[in-house]
Amino acid sequence: MRLGVDIGGTKTAAVVLGDDGEVLTTATAPSGRGAVDVVAQATRIARLAMAEVGGPGAITAAGACIPGLVDPAAGTVRHAVNLEVEHLDLARDLGAALGLVVSVENDVKSAALGAHHLSGLGAARTLAYLNLGTGLAAAVVHAGEVVRGVDGVAGEIGHLPFGGDVVCACGQTGCLETTASGTALLRMWPEAAAHDWDLVGAAARGDSAAVLAAASLCGGVALAVQVLVLASGAQSVVMSGGLTAMGEPLLEAIRAELRIRAASSPFLGSLALAERVSFLPAGVPVAAIGAARLTTPEVETATGGAAWRS
Ligand SMILES: [Zn+2]
Repeated sequence: MRLGVDIGGTKTAAVVLGDDGEVLTTATAPSGRGAVDVVAQATRIARLAMAEVGGPGAITAAGACIPGLVDPAAGTVRHAVNLEVEHLDLARDLGAALGLVVSVENDVKSAALGAHHLSGLGAARTLAYLNLGTGLAAAVVHAGEVVRGVDGVAGEIGHLPFGGDVVCACGQTGCLETTASGTALLRMWPEAAAHDWDLVGAAARGDSAAVLAAASLCGGVALAVQVLVLASGAQSVVMSGGLTAMGEPLLEAIRAELRIRAASSPFLGSLALAERVSFLPAGVPVAAIGAARLTTPEVETATGGAAWRS
């Protein structure tokens, strides 16, 4: 069995996967604040999940993911701002607390791995994961592994300069994230909460701000999908994150935008992008599931599993 822990900005979730990859048990509670509390709370939640399946002795692999700049080889995270963590040796500290070897990864990359696992695509297929949250983040899973690249920046398409005059947190102007993200939507449609985040419905009723915001959001997301497929060759683009709680109406609006673009280009039409996109169902602990599938080179060397299994 595998343990996965997702330390999120507001809550921490732990899952235990069975031998066939099925979720056997989950546990969730608010995240800690500061390095010490983050680890203590993650430890408590992980133990709750493990207690359901017979304790740590039944766990053969463990992983954890966290926002911020993660170095999987070193097992460390820096600048997890929402968790008030400047630096944390997560693999060492959580591993010691649980008595397990723990692999670590960034939360979006871990969610991409979880989405690939849930997709049933098979290890050989390429999947792109797009997180429509406060910001716009993405990652690609190829041959069963997250593509990291130098410094882990592979997939950071939210910071492609796209257009407009909004200065991005990264220092550039007009990044894709300033068009296709929760922050961008609230800037364009401050009434979102008052309308229960029913952007597509409000646009259909003629709310002029919602019409503009929906067009901008869907245009930005459609471009993100196109960039991901063209750059990675992904068979499937799976989306998750806060904005996907808008559900089927938003997904259909994104598909409609992709079809409009395809109608004027035989090349785009041949890619059938509208048929490749999907939303993960709400409530699936995708990042924790991905964390349970994490490995590090050190873990593989230590167990020598591949060698003796063959
Ligand atoms: Zn940027």
